[in-house]
Amino acid sequence: MNRTWTMLAIGAGLWAGVAASAQAAELSLARIDCGTPPAPTIVNERFSDTFAYGDKKIQFVFSCYVIKHGDDYMLWDTGHAMTAPNVAPKVSLVETLAKIDVKPDQIKYVGISHFHADHTGQVASFPKATLLIGAKEWEAITSAHPPQGANVKPFEGWIKGDNKVEPQPLDKDVFGDGTVIMLRTPGHTPGHSSLLVKLAQMGPVILTGDAVHFRENWESDGVPAFNYDRAQSVASLQRLKKIAENLKATVIIQHDARDVEKLPVFPAFAK
Ligand SMILES: [Zn+2]
Repeated sequence: MNRTWTMLAIGAGLWAGVAASAQAAELSLARIDCGTPPAPTIVNERFSDTFAYGDKKIQFVFSCYVIKHGDDYMLWDTGHAMTAPNVAPKVSLVETLAKIDVKPDQIKYVGISHFHADHTGQVASFPKATLLIGAKEWEAITSAHPPQGANVKPFEGWIKGDNKVEPQPLDKDVFGDGTVIMLRTPGHTPGHSSLLVKLAQMGPVILTGDAVHFRENWESDGVPAFNYDRAQSVASLQRLKKIAENLKATVIIQHDARDVEKLPVFPAFAK
């Protein structure tokens, strides 16, 4: 190829790129209550391995998220099971989605931040969805001796091979256009992930999973007492902070009542 042709080819490639972005899929994000908040929790007891918070009490919540990308739907975390003692959601995810006329079979992807019960309780309601989960998390769930705290049962359909799973060893660009990216943020559990959603109007949003549990924990680089790997947790927290700073992203700590309110109340979607 001579120089002129090379230049033309590059020009055509750029033009195709511009044309593709002009037709970018519309993206929106909503939060859903996925458990009944417990009484405010004295966080020092379980949520600091350095006894950082004195008598401080935090109001925790349980939240799930639905992302609409063009005509495709993705769930991020599935909250507590409807049978969970004391903390079960008042309305199931399936019933909540019915309010916007979305049936379980329309959910293309269900992304799971990590294997704990308050993030995985209703995953089995979406057997047609492709499960996106960190590779190390999937290894733990499917191992002969799953670690303590791994909520294995609701993943049975995927473990048996009836449903589709795509374990992610690295970050995952979910829709291939850079708008929704699963971020590798291990530490809380071996294959923990967070989610970056680049909304057009609100700007980028980071859903932290449990890489962090509350704002004071974010500000002080705190690590909970129940945690898989301290060094990884601190590194993941640093990564999220850098991304938030570089992209001017809104950080939503999924268990912090003050943070989930940054998104409108369902059925409203942030765009
Ligand atoms: Zn957790």
